[in-house]
Amino acid sequence: MVKVTILGASGGVGQPLSLLLKLNKHITELALYDIKPVEGISKDLSHINTNSECTGFKDSEIGEALHGSDIVLIPAGVPRRPGMSRDDLFKINAKIVKSLVGATGKFAPDARILIISNPVNSMVPIAVETLKMMGKFQAGKVMGVTMLDLVRAETFLVDFLGLQDSSKKKGLDKGAMDKNITVIGGHSGNTIVPLFLNREFSDALGSQHYGEFIHRVQFGGDEIVKAKNGEGSATLSMALAGYKFTEEILKSIVHEKSQVATIPAFVYLPGVLNGKKVQDKLGKDLEYFALPVNLTNGCVTSVDDKILDHLSSKETQLVKVAVSELIVNIEKGKKFVLGAAKL
Ligand code: ADP
Repeated sequence: MVKVTILGASGGVGQPLSLLLKLNKHITELALYDIKPVEGISKDLSHINTNSECTGFKDSEIGEALHGSDIVLIPAGVPRRPGMSRDDLFKINAKIVKSLVGATGKFAPDARILIISNPVNSMVPIAVETLKMMGKFQAGKVMGVTMLDLVRAETFLVDFLGLQDSSKKKGLDKGAMDKNITVIGGHSGNTIVPLFLNREFSDALGSQHYGEFIHRVQFGGDEIVKAKNGEGSATLSMALAGYKFTEEILKSIVHEKSQVATIPAFVYLPGVLNGKKVQDKLGKDLEYFALPVNLTNGCVTSVDDKILDHLSSKETQLVKVAVSELIVNIEKGKKFVLGAAKL
């Protein structure tokens, strides 16, 4: 029996994410919640011939939507539009995430909480601090979903290799490139650090394409904001990435998969076994970082810190830039909760 709740299920990410989750055989109950009506969406999904029960909950029914939930996904918020500053986005989404995480702490205190709302680098600290203040924080249960960066890295890497030599693209499976590349750090711009697990591929790119590839992964979201021309940001690819991440959590809960660090997530370092090791390597002030995670029962127990011992000089430089930006983003999130508490 696994119950999954989506907070923000009517949105551009929420709807396709709900559809993908409806197809997962491990889920028995799918609860959709949004401040916008979700009845139509839940009714529509409930006609799909998979065995999970799909129910929509109104604005006032958040307690029921969350009650007994094992996994809570939060894509709620506003998407980034052209002309909108990151600060505008921060202020709106910070309030939404704080209130939804507060409700989760109250009604589903044991749930794993997957944060999709942006900016993830600040929203995850908001979630953790909110739960800490309620006395409900459980280490390893709050995860920032950075999976879209890995999905993009896998796609763009094969495309760039194809530009070099079209025969190289043949036989490469975009969906299986996570053996060759991962993405660590944070989930916006310069904080996103693609890491090559297989040097053959970075060498094959050459220095010019390497730089272009890194930039495309870091700023891939902007391509979508521009192409959607005022209608929002990544929704379908984000939903797929959120689903892929949730699928791993589900596999871990139902013990279909043993502990192996493959997917990255943005986590609170002092809350994981070897988090201190990561801080020793990257900086004592750094409280959050995305690395491939080890999962037990759908919770993060440790991260792959060894990956940090084999960085190239370019990757070392990228990590350094990411860490300094992350510290600012994290502080901003923490202040939003702790500053408000002091008032
Ligand atoms: P995105 O493209 O990021 O999914 P949308 O605006 O399409 O952005 O979707 C965000 C969803 O979050 C909307 O359906 C909106 O109603 C929902 N939402 C906003 N605030 C809340 C809230 N406090 N609780 C639940 N859902 C919310």
